[in-house]
This record gives sequence, C-alpha cells and structure tokens, in this order.
Amino acid sequence: MPYHVLKFGGSNLKKKDDILRIVNVIGKYDSSLVIVVSAFYGVTDILVNALEKVKSDESAITELTDLLLALKKETLDEVVDDALIRDEIYEAVKTRVKKLKRYLQGVNFFGDTPAFVNDTILSYGERLSALMLTGILNYFKVDAEEILPKELGLLTDGEFGNATVDFDLTGNNVKKAIKGKKIVIVPGFYGVSSEGKTTLLGRGGSDYSAAAIAKCINASSLDLFKDVDGFLSGDPRYVDSPQRIEKLSYMESAELSYFGAKILHPRTVEPLREAGIPIRIFNIATIEDLSHPLTSIQHASDVHDDVIKSVTFSDDIGILKLKGAGIGNKPGILSKVSSAMDHAGINIKSVITSQTTINILIEMSHLKKSADLVKDLELHAVSEIIAEDDISVIAAVGNGIMKKVGLAGRIFTAVSLKGINIEIISVGASPVAAYFIVKKYDRAATIRAIHDEYVK
Ligand code: ASP
Ligand code: MG
Repeated sequence: MPYHVLKFGGSNLKKKDDILRIVNVIGKYDSSLVIVVSAFYGVTDILVNALEKVKSDESAITELTDLLLALKKETLDEVVDDALIRDEIYEAVKTRVKKLKRYLQGVNFFGDTPAFVNDTILSYGERLSALMLTGILNYFKVDAEEILPKELGLLTDGEFGNATVDFDLTGNNVKKAIKGKKIVIVPGFYGVSSEGKTTLLGRGGSDYSAAAIAKCINASSLDLFKDVDGFLSGDPRYVDSPQRIEKLSYMESAELSYFGAKILHPRTVEPLREAGIPIRIFNIATIEDLSHPLTSIQHASDVHDDVIKSVTFSDDIGILKLKGAGIGNKPGILSKVSSAMDHAGINIKSVITSQTTINILIEMSHLKKSADLVKDLELHAVSEIIAEDDISVIAAVGNGIMKKVGLAGRIFTAVSLKGINIEIISVGASPVAAYFIVKKYDRAATIRAIHDEYVK
C-alpha cells in the first residue's frame, strides 16, 4: 500500500490550535501515513542550553525536567478534555523524562558529555513530541502508533551530531517495520548507528529524517507542513512583494536551501531526487485540499522567461582567501588544504579561484579554525591568508540560468546602478544558480536590486 510521508516541524507544535490543525490535516488523507515530528517549538534549544549547565550544576537537571513536564502538561490540559486519557499520556511522558534524567545525572557526575550521550539527550525533544502526539491522536480516535528510529532500523554512518542515513542497510528495515500499519509516528532528528547508539542528523534534521524514510518506502510524496507560504521569490524582509513559487526542481530547491532559504533543510532533497519522490509544501494554517501544495518540488520545473525564480542569501559564510602569485596554477595546494579541512571536520561550501587568489567559502563557525589550519600547513605558494567575515553570499536561482546569455551582465548592471560593489561572482558551478558575494552592509540592497530586475 502506498504511503505518504508527512513532516510537522517545531513551528507546527506550539499551542493548542497547532495540534488541532495537525489532527485536521491527517483527516484529509485516505492513504497510509508515516508522520515524522520535530521537537515542540524551542525545545531542542532548551535542551542544548540546559545540557551545558548540567555539567557543572546539579540543580539544572530538575530545572530542565520540571520545565519539560510543565510544558507537556500545559499542552495536554489544553488539548485533551478526558482526565483519564490525559493522565495516561502524562504518565508515559513522565516515564520517558525519567530516562532523560538518568542520562543528565551521568553528565553531571562526570562533568562531561561524550558525543553519544549528547546525541541521546538532544533527541529527547523529538522523543517526547512523538509520544505526546501519538497519545493525542489516539484520543482523537486516530489509529496512530509510535515507532522509534531504532525499531524502524533507521541506520546511519555513526557520525555523532551530523550523521547520514545508510540507505543500503536501512531500506528493507523500514519497509518491514511499517508493513501493514496505517499511521506511524516517528520522532525525527536522529537515527541509530550500527552499534545501536543515537546519532543526530544535524540541527533541523527532521526534514532529512522524513526524506530518508520516504526514500526507503518509496513514498508517494513527502509533505512538509509549515507556517509560511512555501518558497518565495525573495525574503519578505528585503523585497517588496515576494511571489510564491509553485514549482521548483530538486536542484533549484537544493541551491536555495543550501544558501539560506530556511524553509527546507538542505539535505532533504538528496534522498528524494534519485527516486523522483515529489516534495509538497503546505501552510498548515491555510491548507484546504491536498492537491494544491503551495510549492511542489520534482524533477521538472518551469523555465521562466526571465529565468530567475528566487533570490536568497546566507550571512553564515565567510571567505578564506589564499593569496600568492600564480597560485591558481600551482598543483596540489587545494588538495592539501581540502584534506586538512576534511580531517578537521570542516565543510567547504564552495571554491572560487583566480590566478592570484583561491577563495574558499566556509561556514562562519569554522572560518577562524580553517585559517589556523592553513597557516599550519606552511604552504610556500601562499603569501597571505585572509579570513573575511563581513560578507554575504547572494544566490540567484532558476533553471536555465546557464543558457541565458548576458544574465550575469544584467545582474551586474542592476546592482552597480545602486552603487554596490560585487566582490566575487560565480556563474557556471551550478546549472541552476549564480552567486554574488557582497559586503554584508550591501546585502539588502543587492537582493532588492536583483529581485526588482528579474521578479519585479
Ligand atoms: N529539533 C531539531 C532542531 O531543532 C530538529 C528539527 O527541528 O528538525 O534542530
Ligand atoms: Mg525545525
């Protein structure tokens, strides 16, 4: 029987109305469902902060567990009228929180959090929300059943904090585990290593959990429920009248999310693209019927006359500039640099080279560390290393961008008419995106200029 995979994020899990909306949405489907849930709004951050405190402060343990219990109780009081059922769900929550408490006591006792304990503790936001939602759905007579990633056999490569799903090992497990079940609720954000340890899939990783499960069971679609209107042509904070984008290709949406669009976790697309499983995005506050997603993502997308569909940006990227005469020509430099970074777990976002400079785009939190690493390599060809952290990467995305003659020139003109200096341009690395690097203070004006020129 075909399944749809649904994902509800933290923004769908705040208050009573949100829960009632979820119940309403589920009622619209007549197929079997796997429902992946994030932690309730803000809970993962609460766990992250408390965990830090717990290392040196025993009282932070009960502070955290009391807070979690109070939050859950508040939701249950609001949503479940039947006192007996409410108590039953609350008891189950208490049992799970007790387990969390024991892990926290261990952290406090050792004064340290080993990676596998960190991942286990941070997964409790999702573990609690899946348990709660299952209980609440049952109360509303929805025949749902919770299955944890361990029981699903959702196996990862074992990298703590940022694991990748191992599809070879996982595919059949998931199919078998859900076989014959009508509605399955799964906590997102983590899988298990082959030794059975909890491994997180990276912050915001429940989208990726949902995508991975959708791939394993060859789902009819992955449906993401948001509190915004799908992908837009530009950030409403910067452009006057952003338009909704009805159709995007996998590649376009991957570029947009990789460079800043918050609506989709960048890793969501990767499992679905090969299998051709569509991603459909709905606004849970306005959804009427399932046949009209706000944005749908699949292989084909429209090619607009003006090519560019959306302009996005990331402030979370810095440039590491390696300067030296003829550096672009000297073999081996980039491979030494990239393998050193790989060893240190630093992810290179992009590389743009010229004859005199190699520009390496790096996530801001790794910029300083990567500059130190390159210094330590003592490369003769590199005379100067500069880490720039005051830039913004603007991405203009649209299918056909490579085929459009004069596109970069048109953008250049539009932007320079506003008196903005573009530091670096990169066109051609991706068939659907062009990148422009500007100073942070020029970010808003650049986005507006490109958006006005292409989207209006
Ligand atoms: N709760 C996790 C986070 O905040 C995962 C998610 O929301 O997707 O990162
Ligand atoms: Mg989220």
